[in-house]
Amino acid sequence: MTTEKTSDNPASKNSGNHPGAFQVSDPVGLNWGELLREAARTLAEAGIPDPMRDVRALLTHALSIPVEQVTLIMPDCPPEPEIESFLGLVARRAAREPMAHILGKRAFFGREFIVTADVLDPRPETEHLVERALDAPFRRVLDLGCGSGCILLSLLDERKFATGLGVDISPAALEVSERNARKLGLGQRASFRQSDWFETVDGMFDLIVSNPPYITTTEIDDLPREVREFEPHLALFAGPDGLAAYRAILQGAPRRLLPGGRLIVEIGPTQGDAVCALFESAGLVGCEIGKDLAGRDRVVAGSRPASDPA
Ligand code: GLN
Repeated sequence: MTTEKTSDNPASKNSGNHPGAFQVSDPVGLNWGELLREAARTLAEAGIPDPMRDVRALLTHALSIPVEQVTLIMPDCPPEPEIESFLGLVARRAAREPMAHILGKRAFFGREFIVTADVLDPRPETEHLVERALDAPFRRVLDLGCGSGCILLSLLDERKFATGLGVDISPAALEVSERNARKLGLGQRASFRQSDWFETVDGMFDLIVSNPPYITTTEIDDLPREVREFEPHLALFAGPDGLAAYRAILQGAPRRLLPGGRLIVEIGPTQGDAVCALFESAGLVGCEIGKDLAGRDRVVAGSRPASDPA
């Protein structure tokens, strides 16, 4: 797991030593329009897919201005400290640091979450898991490997009578989820605890959710640099077949689910059948594979039989 921490004030970080650091020979005297174009060119050369979007976001962050204001300041020639803080952020992005780490936040399911290098960057495909979970009522939810807390907290914010527990093996991740709970005003209904999967979990739940690590250790070289070099490996990799976390989850889930309670997990696109088989051998029923917006298998859902004794 990477130990890199996101600075509270990323603008102050000097990344001049990064390979591929952004350098404009004489930036002083250029206006913001020119600086933005130069910065976008640097990011394009570093292989970043939508460089203009990123440089605009970096500029709003460096200057703490709303995005609408970017166009208005284009003709202005900024003072040197502002140029420096902007170029510092551009250099970090050129070194492929994820935008969420530089900005310290990421939008997920209509809310803004604090993100650091200690948690998985919330991804749009995980919103599908939240949608599936909202398809049926629940009162008490458990999120295994909660990371930033984005799944648990989105669910609790959508269902005002529900309470939840988020567990993670990483104390640094739990700090982030607790901060997010307070930021969203959900501190009363969400609690957090350090746990290796079910190790310290008690009580019963009518919904258990998880976006566990599921990438195989052999796939590491296929990942984008942003993921491979900056995101916590603990949250990404799950052994040679990518199924280690599902085995641990399926071992504990039946004992913590109320009769009729649901288990919903995110999966990698090729893991649907293998994960369904694990659900079935754990005695869960009604196993279904759901697709993400790109049409790839992305979640598996099943439940404890409603007829089970409570
Ligand atoms: N979906 C993530 C990725 O492909 C992986 C997240 C996970 O392992 N849970 O980068």
